[in-house]
Amino acid sequence: MLQGKTALVTGSTSGIGLGIAKALARQGAHIVLNGFGDVDGPRGEIEQAGKAHGVRTGYHGADMSRPAEIEAMMQYAAKEFGRVDILVNNAGIQHVSAVQDFPVERWDAIIAINLSSAFHTSRLALPGMLANNWGRIINVASVHGLVASAQKSAYVAAKHGIIGLTKVTALETAQTGVTCNAICPGWVLTPLVQKQVDAKAAEAGVSNEEAKKLLLGEKEPSMQFTTPDELGELAVFFCSAAANNVRGAAWNMDGGWTAQ
Ligand code: NAD
Repeated sequence: MLQGKTALVTGSTSGIGLGIAKALARQGAHIVLNGFGDVDGPRGEIEQAGKAHGVRTGYHGADMSRPAEIEAMMQYAAKEFGRVDILVNNAGIQHVSAVQDFPVERWDAIIAINLSSAFHTSRLALPGMLANNWGRIINVASVHGLVASAQKSAYVAAKHGIIGLTKVTALETAQTGVTCNAICPGWVLTPLVQKQVDAKAAEAGVSNEEAKKLLLGEKEPSMQFTTPDELGELAVFFCSAAANNVRGAAWNMDGGWTAQ
C-alpha cells in the first residue's frame, strides 16, 4: 500500500516509534530512523519487516531538542530519499514531579522534544508534501493530550499542545491531499513506562508484575497495555486512502482510559 513512499519516524530506535516504523515498512514504505541508543538492531527489525517490498532504511541521529539538528535531518531525508511523504512525530521523554519541584531544565527539555520538535519537522516537511499534494503527518500525543495526571505538568502541557498543533495543521491543509492527525495511547509497556513501573514497585514495595497491575488499575479499565504493533496498525490506517478525510483527529487507543 505504501510502496515508493518514504516515512520519517522520530524516536524510532525504541518502543512505539519502532512499532510504527515496522508497520509502515510492512506496507512498503522506506524508513528514515531517528533516535538514540542501538541503531543496528531496530534497523534490522525494520528491514526484515519490509523485506518483501525491498524497503530501504536511513538513519539520522538528530537530537529533537535542537532545531539546527532537526533541519539537518530533514535535509538528509530529502537528499537520500527525495521527499518525506509520511512524518511521524513520536520522540518523547517523561519526567514525574510536582510543579513546585519540577526541574526547569526538564520542563524545557520536555517542551522542546515532545512539542516544539513536531513544529520544526512539520514546517520543514510540509512544502514537499503540498507540492506533491499527498502527505501524512501523524503526531504521537497521548491520553495526556486529552486529560491530565498529577506530577506530569510538562508532559501534559506538551501533549495538549501537540493536539492543538495537529488541529491547526489539519485546518491549514484541509483542502489538500495532506492530512494531520494525532494518536493518543494509554499505557504502553516501553522503556519510558518501565521506569514508572520500577518507581511504583519501589514505592509500594511490590513485584514488577504487581506494580504493572497497580499502574493499569489507576487509569486503564481494560487492565491491558496497548502494544506498539497495535499503534503501528492505526498509523497504517491514517496513511490509507480510507483515511483521506480524517483530519485533525486525536484518536485514543487507551483501554477506556478517557471514556471514564
Ligand atoms: P521510548 O523511551 O521507548 O522511546 C522514545 C524514543 O525517542 C527513543 O527512540 C529515544 O531514543 C527517542 N528520543 C528520546 N529523546 C530524544 C531526543 N532528544 N532526540 C531524538 N530522539 C529522542 O518511549 P515510548 O514509550 O515509545 O514513547 C514514544 C512516544 O509515545 C512519546 O512521545 C511518548 O510520550 C508517547 N507515549 C507513550 C506512552 C507509553 O505508555 N509508553 C503512552 C502515550 C504516549
